[in-house]
Amino acid sequence: VPELPEVETVRRMLERHVTGLRIASIAVSGAALRGVVPRGLDARARGRRIEAVRRHGKYLLIDLERGVTVLSHLGMSGRWLFHSRPPADAVPHLHARVRFGNGAELWFQDARRFGTLRAVATARVARDPSLAILGPDPLREPPTGAGLAETARGLRLSVKGFLLDQRRLAGVGNIYASEALHRAGIDPRRRAGALRIEEWEVVAREVVAVLDAAIARMGTTFRAYRTLWGEPGTYGDQLLVYDRAGEPCRRCGTRIRRIVQSQRSTFFCPSCQGGRGAPRPTPAAAIGRKPLSRKASGKA
Ligand SMILES: [Zn+2]
Repeated sequence: VPELPEVETVRRMLERHVTGLRIASIAVSGAALRGVVPRGLDARARGRRIEAVRRHGKYLLIDLERGVTVLSHLGMSGRWLFHSRPPADAVPHLHARVRFGNGAELWFQDARRFGTLRAVATARVARDPSLAILGPDPLREPPTGAGLAETARGLRLSVKGFLLDQRRLAGVGNIYASEALHRAGIDPRRRAGALRIEEWEVVAREVVAVLDAAIARMGTTFRAYRTLWGEPGTYGDQLLVYDRAGEPCRRCGTRIRRIVQSQRSTFFCPSCQGGRGAPRPTPAAAIGRKPLSRKASGKA
């Protein structure tokens, strides 16, 4: 499922290749995407030039001239594919085909149809029900330890659940929440309200760091996500914990565990992330003694 780095990769490519192009027409399949049928899209977009491509969290905002913005969410499997010379054969699950004045085309493909595509007035974007509920975008407004601690105050929700909540931070999903918490050395099961401010500072820093690192590799592809050119992202081989259950932690060698939190998989290292089985700091008196075997030190 595309998260912030994948959507940002697509945004940067769109910005480079479609800004300034004039939309000649948009043909839509008529099939319902997530709750919204993009009828009327052609009438609102036709003849307008693309002025800017923005992003908030996992939403793409394609600004057209004269106050129209096309709002797009990739959902589970949505893709934007750009063709400077469109191929003769269409692809399956094509829900929108944007034709530009210069002959180039931009296709929106979505096999599972959880994506969103609709036009709104640019002036009303911030008040749009989908966007108005979102928290700050961590790339534009990097979170601070104090800010996260304040937002999390008193919450019984897990820190993993906190990071996934788009109302608190927009754009972090299951992959990068697991990765950021491993980098921060925080147990994903801890209550968000119980983290100390210094711990939130590390989380804030690592959330931004992992998003930046993933963007540098065009994101992570498991199944559906592709860039504008149909290429997969290559951050997958950098993942520290996500989808690595049973494999050794890249830092300490302990086997990565998979648990389920709110019906979603969480991956973490029980040693690095301080849960049960975490190594205790070695007391001075024990230094020089035979180290405990893994078996004797309890479940890993
Ligand atoms: Zn580890």
